[in-house]
Amino acid sequence: MEEGGVNVIDLTQADESFVKELEGLGADELRECIQCGKCASTCPMALAGLEFFIKRIIHAANLGLRDILLEDSSVWGCQSCNRCVEVCPMDIKPYEVIQAVRRAAVKVESCPANTYEGLRNLYRFGHAVYPKGYEERRKKAGLPEKPPTAISNEELRKKFQEVLRNTILEEIAPFPLD
Ligand code: SF4
Ligand code: SF4
Repeated sequence: MEEGGVNVIDLTQADESFVKELEGLGADELRECIQCGKCASTCPMALAGLEFFIKRIIHAANLGLRDILLEDSSVWGCQSCNRCVEVCPMDIKPYEVIQAVRRAAVKVESCPANTYEGLRNLYRFGHAVYPKGYEERRKKAGLPEKPPTAISNEELRKKFQEVLRNTILEEIAPFPLD
């Protein structure tokens, strides 16, 4: 929260149970962070001007600021480049903290609509990104209509769907898993 040009953290929102939840979701080294900022210095999210770049996400996660983290969409801007993991002197694996916050968000269905679109595509086609008209454009380019991946192999796709049905997707998907 910004007050008079100064960032103010409302510690009445700090929730230790959220820190524990994140640890259980993969951010097990979270509390070792010394806020040195090395992760932020190499993170493309900081350049993109997102409200919560990686150092602030780690800080907010350490304080258990559940509502702030889940309401803000910054964690979904992570590019999975893992630069933060390479530079962190405390072996926090900041990317794992991002993933833990995402997992917590998914559990309460607090993620951007396009995330569900990606999940729907992944379930139906085996590709998170499968744009409309893709097959037509491939045909025009002289390529087989479908790429040689799970989408071209019914048996593999069914196996993949079975794996997905045994994940949390079964509980949270806002679309039928049939
Ligand atoms: S580099 Fe590691 S220790 Fe430094 S702020 Fe980032 S997560 Fe914390
Ligand atoms: S993995 Fe995500 S948080 Fe880490 S440096 Fe890359 S964009 Fe930033």
